Amino acid sequence: MYRSLYFKFIMIFVVFMITVMAVVGTVLLNSVTSYYTNDFKDQMTAFFNLDDSSDPLSGAMDAEDFALDLKERLQAYGTSLGIDNYRNYYILDMNGNFLEGSNEELGRELIKTPNMISAMGGIVGDTQVFGGEYCDYAVPMSGEEGECIVYIKDTQEEMQQISWRLFSIILTSVFFGLVIAAVLSFFLAKAITAPITTLTKNAKLIAEGDFAGNIDVHSNDEIGVLTANFNRMKIALKESMEEVSGERTKLETVFLYIKDAVIAFSEDGRVMQINKSAIELFGDAYDEDFDLSMMLSLFQINSTQAYISNDELGEQTYILRDVQMGDKALDINLGTLKYPDGNQLHEGMIAVIHDITIRAELDKSRREFVANVSHELRTPLTSIKGATETILSYPDMPDDMRNSFLNMAIEESNRMLRIVQDLLTLSRLDNNRTQWKITHFDLSHMLEHIVDVMKKTPEVEERHHRIEYTVLGNLPEISGDRERLEQVIVNVMSNSVKYTAENGLVELSARPSSNGKNVVIKVKDNGMGIPEEDVPRLFERFYRVEKSRTSDTGGTGLGLAIAKEIVEAHGGNIHITSKLGEGTTVRVVLPVETGLESTN
Ligand code: ADP
Repeated sequence: MYRSLYFKFIMIFVVFMITVMAVVGTVLLNSVTSYYTNDFKDQMTAFFNLDDSSDPLSGAMDAEDFALDLKERLQAYGTSLGIDNYRNYYILDMNGNFLEGSNEELGRELIKTPNMISAMGGIVGDTQVFGGEYCDYAVPMSGEEGECIVYIKDTQEEMQQISWRLFSIILTSVFFGLVIAAVLSFFLAKAITAPITTLTKNAKLIAEGDFAGNIDVHSNDEIGVLTANFNRMKIALKESMEEVSGERTKLETVFLYIKDAVIAFSEDGRVMQINKSAIELFGDAYDEDFDLSMMLSLFQINSTQAYISNDELGEQTYILRDVQMGDKALDINLGTLKYPDGNQLHEGMIAVIHDITIRAELDKSRREFVANVSHELRTPLTSIKGATETILSYPDMPDDMRNSFLNMAIEESNRMLRIVQDLLTLSRLDNNRTQWKITHFDLSHMLEHIVDVMKKTPEVEERHHRIEYTVLGNLPEISGDRERLEQVIVNVMSNSVKYTAENGLVELSARPSSNGKNVVIKVKDNGMGIPEEDVPRLFERFYRVEKSRTSDTGGTGLGLAIAKEIVEAHGGNIHITSKLGEGTTVRVVLPVETGLESTN
């Protein structure tokens, strides 16, 4: 209340009124006093300084009873002297004692004033004290009959009454002035504060985020300009706020949906921000108590994986490479994060976690592949080396023994050659450098031809296998690389021949798919079968079920991998089902029209 503009305005007006009235009052009262005093003196001087010819008192002192004579003359000229109830004249002897006067009672009690004393000394006493209790004038008179003093004294009561009345008028004016000032200041304050109050209300609404509407500008004065500027500021602020919030939303979206897991921790390790990827990465481990130390405890960190890097500003980032978390492999960057809280700047941490599981698996399979290649090549090489060294060490070796060592070296060389050829085929398939020769051909012809050739191979003949071929429905002509598709079917059938004990049955069948867009080729054997756990891995490079049981088959472990690449390049798929001890079925689905094009 006391701080409000209303109150301040009223106070200013009141103080202003009182000050003005006090000054006016003082000036008026002083003027009255000085006017009265000066008027008294002027009147006296005029009366007592007349020429002898017009002086009403001239010759009075020559009378015997000059006091009485003087009294009569003074009485007669009472009006000129202003004699009334407040102003009296006295005739005093030279000692100041009362002789005659207009008011005998007062005359006898007269005190000796400086003017009276001056007259007693023979000099006119006309000194007036401004604002004093009385005004007086004393004139020494002398004549033949003696000396006396004519003394005029004004009690100033009249002037005091006038002053008092004036004072009451001023007081009343002050009172009414105050009331008018209060009322005026109230309306003035209201006129000034109303737009300010509206501005204040709007400022509060803005602070609460409400930017609706503009304030009407009613005047061109300072407040009107302020309101117009306020409206402009509001629009500018709204635009910047929208821009900022738009940028914020964009950043939040990026933050939320960024592939890497990002978590920001406060100074005391609490989670301040976490994105979707991070929540998914930590799964059940992420709950409301999750913090920095909990996160670090999830990582299996080994000191060789961690190092510190400094950026240009000297900020340190802790980098943890290839950290295991359960079955996941992660790259973790831990950096400091400065964030404001109130007026203070705090230092938290930000973790950016990159899931490198797939890359790590790829790296692993690449390493395994190199190890496998080395191993597969080393075995035949060791045999070749052993055979040739033995031949060199024993020059007298019997011919048949030497021949068998040499045959062994040739066989192992062939095996190496097959491996290298298969690897080359795979590498070309991987790098899209395979030379495709796409033609339309009769699938049935191709399959019949394969069966004919297979039946005549030493493996089939030696093992007394039966090979049967069935066509179900009308097989269409298909498009594809005939030679390579033949290689696929031969490979699959060779496996059936290889992994089936003597007198086995290998059934080849083909049929169009129900929608006519594909053909389905099946190779079924009643051989040794494949353990369930090995089936999903059969298409991996160099993967073999129990190396010992397949070591004598001369395979490279790459046949099915190549078959898969060729079939998939044609837009088809290959699938194996098997039961250990009962047999294996390989199902190859090929599109009638491949999307694959011949290489120029
Ligand atoms: P390989 O040259 O060793 O035959 P493949 O890639 O053709 O290589 O086959 C991979 C492995 O799958 C073989 O080593 C064998 O253990 C198993 N396999 C493939 N076909 C059959 C089948 N018809 N019966 C049993 N095992 C099979």
